[in-house]
Amino acid sequence: IVRFENVSKRFGETVVMRDFDLDIAPNEKLAVIGPSGSGKSTLLRLLMTLEQPDGGVIYVKGEPLHHMWKNGRLVSADQKHLRKVRSHISMVFQHFHLFPHMTAIGNVIEGPIHVLGMKRAEAVARAEELLDMVGLADKKGSHPSQLSGGQQQRVAIARALAMQPDVMLFDEVTSALDPELVGEVLNAIRKIGREQDITMILVTHEMGFAKEFADRVIFIEGGRIVEQGPGAQVLSEPRNERTQAFLRAVL
Ligand code: ATP
Ligand code: MG
Repeated sequence: IVRFENVSKRFGETVVMRDFDLDIAPNEKLAVIGPSGSGKSTLLRLLMTLEQPDGGVIYVKGEPLHHMWKNGRLVSADQKHLRKVRSHISMVFQHFHLFPHMTAIGNVIEGPIHVLGMKRAEAVARAEELLDMVGLADKKGSHPSQLSGGQQQRVAIARALAMQPDVMLFDEVTSALDPELVGEVLNAIRKIGREQDITMILVTHEMGFAKEFADRVIFIEGGRIVEQGPGAQVLSEPRNERTQAFLRAVL
């Protein structure tokens, strides 16, 4: 459903990705691990079209994301094309970025009404289901300032899901939380993974969660995938010495 083909990305002198290839299957749960600065967020931001690649092509559902082929030449995509391809993807960030002046349900219905053009009643009904799913049925009318970090992050997850994406991106969504709030957010992600037909790409430092939840774990460093496989293999019996060194440092 997502494919990186020969993608390269640099910021000035810093090469973040070189000839990067990655194929993600529909419904796959993929965990991305790697040291700070290895390009994990850049990977997600490229998919979200928040960054442009310097080379290569990223496909979503078979459609090139940033560029299109026309008469055998690669040209920049127009806004309409970008909007369409991007509509398949939603992202949840480390810092929740909720609208502070709106209630929980207000945050969740905003996108469906204004971007998807959904009728208000339908958006509300669906938002109630989603907030229920992430365990916040009783917090619908609360403003972000009245919610804990874990609750705010669960609202952010419901809001991302309300856009009916095929692919959900999670960038260290529990890293800013107090330890006792991490579990409730991971539980919400687990539940979504079980109940929805959805592809998930998670950048995470929660190795236990990655091992149990992900179909595949990839370890990236130096702009490349150093090692990948089932969590039980990559995280418990890493073959590559760089993966071993990384896991020794974080576990
Ligand atoms: P972390 O675990 O700390 O979040 P990361 O793996 O997500 O790290 P990225 O944020 O993808 O790493 O950054 C990869 C590299 O690109 C880093 O060296 C970073 O400094 C650099 N970088 C990222 N965004 C920019 C930018 N907008 N301008 C310049 N350099 C950037
Ligand atoms: Mg990052």
